[in-house]
Amino acid sequence: MATHKVGGEVDAYCTRCKLTLAHTILAMVGTKIARVRCNTCNGDHAYRGAPGTTDRPTPSSTPRASRASSSGSSSAKAEKVIISFEEQLAGKDIANAPKYSPKDTYQVDQVVSHPTFGIGLVTAVRGDKVDLTFRTDTKTLVHGRGGPPAEKPAFSPPTRGATGPADKPMAAEPPPADAEASGESATNGD
Ligand SMILES: [Zn+2]
Repeated sequence: MATHKVGGEVDAYCTRCKLTLAHTILAMVGTKIARVRCNTCNGDHAYRGAPGTTDRPTPSSTPRASRASSSGSSSAKAEKVIISFEEQLAGKDIANAPKYSPKDTYQVDQVVSHPTFGIGLVTAVRGDKVDLTFRTDTKTLVHGRGGPPAEKPAFSPPTRGATGPADKPMAAEPPPADAEASGESATNGD
């Protein structure tokens, strides 16, 4: 390749004329032509050389490896301390756990024995609802229904549609806790 110098002429691809034309060298970096002016349109632009040469800068020089490492920001919330069910029941008097009945009243941290779900721990009390954490699930049940039935009878009539909550495909809404409890109390009428 002939030696070029600033002010000399070189054939280069003009981005405006879209042709390879004679250009005047405006700037050089080392032995490489950096910037030229088209002798035809007088436009300044970076030197591109003739089309087909390998002199042009490669536009696809973005690093690819930075992609995988930038998406690892969603694993930060796995730090939650999970207390196992056995640990929650540690120190509790499981042997004397009362049988669950919607007529009894429960308190947080109390251990209750449920005929279906087994040993459960009261984790929350909200009015006449009580959250019970069992080994496999957490259930919201009723409690404190032992008083005189001022408004509701102890056994809700089956025409209310509150029975059989499990065989309805109601995925969108959570099943009413009342229905669960009334189903249990039906087997309790000994
Ligand atoms: Zn030009």
